Amino acid sequence: MRRPFIAGNWKMNLGIKEAVSLAQEIGIGCTPFRSVDVALAPTTLAVDAVNEALQGTGVHVASQNHHESDSGAFTGAVSATMLKEAGCAYAIIGHSERRTLFGETLDDVHNKVHSAFKAGLLPILCIGETLEQRENGQAQTIVQEQLLSALKDLSADQIAAITIAYEPVWAIGTGKTASPAEAQSMHAFIRSLLQERYPSFVANDIRIQYGGSVKPHNAKELLSQPDIDGALVGGASLTAKAFIGILTAITQG
Ligand code: PEP
Repeated sequence: MRRPFIAGNWKMNLGIKEAVSLAQEIGIGCTPFRSVDVALAPTTLAVDAVNEALQGTGVHVASQNHHESDSGAFTGAVSATMLKEAGCAYAIIGHSERRTLFGETLDDVHNKVHSAFKAGLLPILCIGETLEQRENGQAQTIVQEQLLSALKDLSADQIAAITIAYEPVWAIGTGKTASPAEAQSMHAFIRSLLQERYPSFVANDIRIQYGGSVKPHNAKELLSQPDIDGALVGGASLTAKAFIGILTAITQG
């Protein structure tokens, strides 16, 4: 049985004080939801303070991005080791905004997955097709390429410990959600790719989140699908009301 995993990606929103205040509110609000794993990804600058604020709540901290190298002459960059030291448990990798706005390649994503493991961070690997790719019938090909290139050279145990976040790019921040059936179909495809290539515990254990305009009103139906194990949440993670609303919705009987 896979534990549901809800992660909030705050992107470049909320300064340190605002991030701490929202983390405190969410930390308290999460108390009744011990059957769900929860993580929050603040701006890098707030990782340390948010980690402090979440002590004792069971809510983890995730990074939004890191440099693949451990240290060196990479002005402006932050390594996975540094993020681990600051309190991160998870590392979001390959978000579509990183791929499209910052030019992250398949190789970059692959290297970041490896450096996250080396530092002791658990990757949340984002994959997903654009609207154009979907309309051209390429959605599965793109998702397969992004998935398999990122997982190259990892052990079965490492792959099982990854969280995959399937995020159709056309559903991120747009208010358009993939229908539960569309999302389920891609999640089942991802799991089948793993089933074909790795020992069966990998496909059984790996958690696949859906991301793309998840809100309290649509979370339950999405997460009721057999292969949807959680959500990566952008906009609705920026208020405690909406984020806790998602947890409430998915745990209702
Ligand atoms: C995201 O950015 O990963 C995301 C899913 O955003 P939103 O929930 O706002 O669509």
